[in-house]
Amino acid sequence: MQDAPDIFARVAQHAALFRAGLRERRVAPDGDAARLAKAFGDPLPDAGSNPVAVVDALVRAAEPGLVATAGPRFFGFVIGGSLPAATAADMLTSAWDQCAFNAVLSPAAIAAERAAGSWLKDLLGIPAWSSVGFVTGAQEANTVGLAAARHHVLAVAGWDVARRGLLGGPAVRVVASAERHATIDRSLRLLGLGDDCVEEVATDANGAMDMVDLARVMGARDDGPTILCLQAGNVNTGACDDLVAGCDVARQYDAWVHVDGAFGLWAAASPTTSHLVRGLERADSWGCDGHKWLNLPYDSGFAFCAHPQVHAAAVSYTASYLSGSGEVEPGGADLTLSSSRRARGFAAWAGLRELGRDGVAELVERPCALARRFADSLSARGVEVVNDVVLNQVLVSFGSDATTDAVIAGVQREGTCWMGGTTWRGRRLMRISVSNWSTTQEDVDASVDAIMRVRARLRSS
Ligand SMILES: *Cc1c(COP(=O)(O)O)cnc(C)c1O
Repeated sequence: MQDAPDIFARVAQHAALFRAGLRERRVAPDGDAARLAKAFGDPLPDAGSNPVAVVDALVRAAEPGLVATAGPRFFGFVIGGSLPAATAADMLTSAWDQCAFNAVLSPAAIAAERAAGSWLKDLLGIPAWSSVGFVTGAQEANTVGLAAARHHVLAVAGWDVARRGLLGGPAVRVVASAERHATIDRSLRLLGLGDDCVEEVATDANGAMDMVDLARVMGARDDGPTILCLQAGNVNTGACDDLVAGCDVARQYDAWVHVDGAFGLWAAASPTTSHLVRGLERADSWGCDGHKWLNLPYDSGFAFCAHPQVHAAAVSYTASYLSGSGEVEPGGADLTLSSSRRARGFAAWAGLRELGRDGVAELVERPCALARRFADSLSARGVEVVNDVVLNQVLVSFGSDATTDAVIAGVQREGTCWMGGTTWRGRRLMRISVSNWSTTQEDVDASVDAIMRVRARLRSS
């Protein structure tokens, strides 16, 4: 079995063909699960195969089950589609096969992370001295931020959690919104704090934290190490917590402020939306995604921390054989939860450079304008828009829960576009997320037409 020199050129061709077809392709795939299982399901052969034949077989097997999430009319979850230069850089990242553990293992990988990290802080308005861990996504970013928070608030209370663990230590309070992202609870569980440690704060009409209720919850018990978890970008409505007011309350209790800004933190990158995240620089740590609104390929998030030493103390380790780790300036694996790790800085650097400062601002502004276009067109056709569209999220109802679910399922089947469903405030709703760099007004109009066609067909059947 040799490493065929033309295999990479061939893969690039497959990739180019797929990307070229994205705009026309049905968004939901044709292939059903049984067909895919069959296509992938041969027994493991005893003998190896020619690499080119393997790749061709993979393309044939996967093609019918690929979702056009990278295309312009995927409006599910809150994920973007990877930018061309970022995607190409990610292909190179695989080809280069660098281990971004530290600067000894890959000087280029660490240099790219440092450069992209500085650009990211600058674009988001995060203090320049902050550390940046290039992590797998916001789940890991939030886990790292909350680990730093746990480390710090317990240290202030005289407890070294890194050495002693949680058993026997002071209880940690975590104050968070009733509409926090579900991954926060998983992070807290993994950190040994558990779901029950959360003291919930009520939300306002659009799903942002109610700051009067925050003062009440924080004041109800003013003792002990406290973490306040705020949110930029409610996953249903897009609403952002008032970070100025939240940080003011936190300061009275010496609480660590972590901001889950998986997608919403990007509001900072445009003057049209930056008011939504005013005051974000006052927080202690931030979790943000690269693979959602920034449209980087998957496996990309950023754990920012205004206290680099705390960040490293909470998650880094050293061992005698690991030359180059535990350097004066922590980087690479010191700031994440993995050791051998993908060189994520290359795709981040390439994507940011592809966009430029103006392009990043446009990447925030255009989806927000298109989300409003969705809301306006749908309400003009008698569809109820349920949320205040402050960012890139639109929630709509078609009447009863059953009808809304039927429209969602019908739209997904029809294939022009793809929207998911959600339950918010007890109602089933269609959830439209606009986060892709390539989405145009025409895509929105074609999608609204598709939704109304499905709705009309349901009515007549
Ligand atoms: C998506 C999301 C997360 C989790 O991010 P992953 O990238 O999926 O790990 C956390 N918080 C919010 C608000 C999100 O939208």
